[in-house]
Amino acid sequence: RKSTVVITGASSGVGLYTAKAMANKGWHVVMACRNLAKAEEAAQSVGIPRDSHTIMHLDLGSLDSVRQFVSNFRASGKTLDALLCNAAIYMPLIKEPLRSPEGYELTMTTNHLGHFLLCNLMLEDMKNSPYRDRRLVILGTVTHNPDELGGKIPPRPDLGNLEGFSAGFKAPISMIDGKKFEPVKAYKDSKVCNVLTMRELHRRYHDSTGITFSSLYPGCVAETPLFRNHYPLFQKIFPLFQKYITGGYVSQELSGERVAAVIADPEYKQSGAYWSWGNRQKKEGKSFVQRVSPQARDDEKAERLWDLSEKLVGLA
Ligand code: NDP
Repeated sequence: RKSTVVITGASSGVGLYTAKAMANKGWHVVMACRNLAKAEEAAQSVGIPRDSHTIMHLDLGSLDSVRQFVSNFRASGKTLDALLCNAAIYMPLIKEPLRSPEGYELTMTTNHLGHFLLCNLMLEDMKNSPYRDRRLVILGTVTHNPDELGGKIPPRPDLGNLEGFSAGFKAPISMIDGKKFEPVKAYKDSKVCNVLTMRELHRRYHDSTGITFSSLYPGCVAETPLFRNHYPLFQKIFPLFQKYITGGYVSQELSGERVAAVIADPEYKQSGAYWSWGNRQKKEGKSFVQRVSPQARDDEKAERLWDLSEKLVGLA
């Protein structure tokens, strides 16, 4: 039987190219996407064979949709051998927060809370899989880490004392620290939450389940549609800047191969690790386990984030 991986946000960018790379490795890919027609077209455009993928509906910006997805997945009878939390939104230009059906700010909901609920529910499915090397991987990013060049540009992520989550995270609250709405910071905050979630999953469940939990920064994939909500001029200049000035540029194809390696290759079987290929891409550049930012390695914060997130998604 083929092994099965669920990939969120597989309809474009890193997720799409990871789906392609996983299909090439002989896996069956469940593409968990909010737009089914777009996902099918995307799968065809990169040549993922029909019998190597299934598209299933998932809107991470709605907690009901996450629960519905899990129940549809279970009804399909597939086993879950790997899960990739990849989908994200980045809305740098909006002035007012968007909201999920529950009333939570949408960037944090899509990138963190939706994935948090998905991971918690699907841990059960992963436990039931007979596959010997199950892995749960969550996309990180360099912008989560002010200790690195790519993470120094303001606004920097800052979860504060999670005041916004403690207070219920509904209007007028829009940020995890309870402060003024800042869409770029909301994205970076959500990515810090992704890394904290991975580390807390590892702490809670690695020993008892044997599942490998990890995260990674695949490089600056400057041509993905992640930047589609930015100024058109930015979208034009950013890839060139990353290619010729910072040297951080990585093609979508290569980013997908890197993520797929972390999901399936033997050398990446290390739970709790955050993988990077560095900020400047070198020919034949090797991956290494990188130290995450001070906030993202704060164990106490990870635990509090877990408890508050459980309440917000209705698990506690
Ligand atoms: P894209 O915008 O190309 O892809 C994002 C994917 O997420 C799309 O498939 C999109 O679906 C999906 N998505 C968005 N909202 C939802 C939702 N509510 N429910 C389900 N799916 C949703 O971005 P990238 O490929 O660049 O980013 C993928 C991941 O990589 C993110 O986690 C990002 O933080 C990370 N990353 C990206 C880097 C980069 O340089 N691009 C660098 C480091 C990390 P749809 O097609 O319907 O819009």
